[in-house]
Amino acid sequence: MLSNEATRASTPAFTAVVPGLSMLRDVFVNLYYAFPEAQPQGPWVLIDAGLPGSADKIKAHAEEQFGPATPPTAIILTHGHFDHVGALDGLLAAWPNVPVYAHPLELPYLTGRSSYPPPDPTVGGGMMAYMSFAYPKHAYDFGSRVQALPVDGSVPGLPGWRWVHTPGHTFGHVSFFREHDKVLVAGDAFTTVFAESGLSTLTQKQEVHGPPAYFTPDWDAARESVQLLARMEPEVAATGHGIPMHGEALRRQLTELSAHFDQLSRPKVGRYAHQPATADASGVRSVPPPVVKPWVAGLAVAGLALSAVALASAGNGKKKGRRFKSTRRSYKGQPDTTYRAWYRDNPAPQGPSGPDWQYRRPSTFADADHFDSSRQNDSSQFNTDQSFADKRYSDQRSRKIETQYP
Ligand SMILES: [Zn+2]
Ligand SMILES: [Zn+2]
Repeated sequence: MLSNEATRASTPAFTAVVPGLSMLRDVFVNLYYAFPEAQPQGPWVLIDAGLPGSADKIKAHAEEQFGPATPPTAIILTHGHFDHVGALDGLLAAWPNVPVYAHPLELPYLTGRSSYPPPDPTVGGGMMAYMSFAYPKHAYDFGSRVQALPVDGSVPGLPGWRWVHTPGHTFGHVSFFREHDKVLVAGDAFTTVFAESGLSTLTQKQEVHGPPAYFTPDWDAARESVQLLARMEPEVAATGHGIPMHGEALRRQLTELSAHFDQLSRPKVGRYAHQPATADASGVRSVPPPVVKPWVAGLAVAGLALSAVALASAGNGKKKGRRFKSTRRSYKGQPDTTYRAWYRDNPAPQGPSGPDWQYRRPSTFADADHFDSSRQNDSSQFNTDQSFADKRYSDQRSRKIETQYP
């Protein structure tokens, strides 16, 4: 068990969290290797897929633990942000038969249908937040390699684990919970480091914090998700950012965060502070207008200048061989008011006497008609013609889809 006083210096990048769960810290983000507690050699499941360029590192640590040529039975995703799926392309190429699972509301960002809402560098908190305007928000397209998590809440390849819908940081964000000993893999629903701060990210000082603010477009949903996770009273929390925490210190800080979420975590100002972006099963439907501060505008100009230089050199590279095909779509002209993120119409019951988290699982599919018809479209595009989807994936690897937002 990792200490609650651990730091980056005292914690190896690849380390056991509890029996049945190992962690790899990939610069500033974590991914996890999950397996039966009595079978440390596997079979195993990969939870999230790290930063771009880290596929070899992820595979090397898998071999270290499970032996050579032992791919996971599945890859499961808490969400599709670039720091959680960055190496997926390389892993899927190396493991051609391994399926990927995510929540249905996350599929638009993993099958090339929608970009995420833009990050919000105006939330403050430190360097990681200020720099967020430069973070990738594009959709990846993994075609038929990615599919929806089972409706019954089970986790493919991980008996004894359940998935729980914990939206807010992204629309289809999920957490994973091992019920018998209350081990929680929470993704970015909350973190155990002050993720906006460059210094805290460097030292990895353990503290329970809300989701990384610069990338969170719905704070009401994020609060409800933290309250839900706090009610589950996890014994161990292994999050997407920060060294895992456990026991009384974890529960006390998580309860504190749950009770005072808006004061502790919600930005006072910021693009999504008082108005969420909305989405449905086909992707983002509306985003609130940006909050522009003069210094941010200055930073953005500097960033644009750098981007222009980068683009110019990338343009030269393109002639040699272009890996990604980008398309641009605009949501301009689409009515905002007719769309709401569907989970906001199915809010989690409030209060300690409300139904516990287990009752929430079926309700994540409450909008079943909408969900089914959406998957129908999805199927016609990606799944029914399996050979086409597979061919397209292997021809192009994942594509990047960038939506234009104001
Ligand atoms: Zn994230
Ligand atoms: Zn993250």
